[in-house]
Amino acid sequence: MSENAMMGPGGNRFGPEEFAAHRVAHVAQMRAKIATFQPGELTDAERDDLLLMREEEKIARDVYVRLHERWGLQPFSNISGSEQAHMDMMLALLEHYNLPDPAHGLQPGTFHEAALQKLHDDLVEKGLKSREDAIQVGLLIEELDIADLQKASARTAKPEIRAVYAELERGSRNHMRAFYRWKQHLGIDYHAAHLPHGELERIALSAHETCS
Ligand code: ZN
Ligand code: ZN
Repeated sequence: MSENAMMGPGGNRFGPEEFAAHRVAHVAQMRAKIATFQPGELTDAERDDLLLMREEEKIARDVYVRLHERWGLQPFSNISGSEQAHMDMMLALLEHYNLPDPAHGLQPGTFHEAALQKLHDDLVEKGLKSREDAIQVGLLIEELDIADLQKASARTAKPEIRAVYAELERGSRNHMRAFYRWKQHLGIDYHAAHLPHGELERIALSAHETCS
């Protein structure tokens, strides 16, 4: 693998171990924060959103793992680790509300629901075609994630749920910035499919957000 493929444009300051340790601490912190709230009654929309976001984070993780195996591009490795942390935070919310985990016992790349399985399979199929397709898939997943997190967040007033959604959205914006740098680097065309016109560029060209 070339050094360029390892580091990519705007390479990282931390090694994989430091990233992993940071993520474990971050998930533990979020779990502790969730535990300070009494779980109230969920509306049907809140429950459906919690279950869907857990699976959407799994789609992101599983697709990025596959695309990293195929292309060895750094963002897929870093970001799949971050998606694991997002899955863990969603699991913490499911446990807080005593909801069954829709991803329980499922291998990477497998989903109970046919629509999610198809979405995952279509994204992998496209991403395996070329490095350019893979980066487009990354941008598409992050767009979808941000759009769905915004919708889900608007449907709840519960502070612990909103806190997790806000954290996942912040992560997604950083992921989008990383994929966008690769889009520019490789000279790829990409047209936003899920976010309003101009929103993707506004996010992608703004500064990386660190944890508060
Ligand atoms: Zn995520
Ligand atoms: Zn992401």
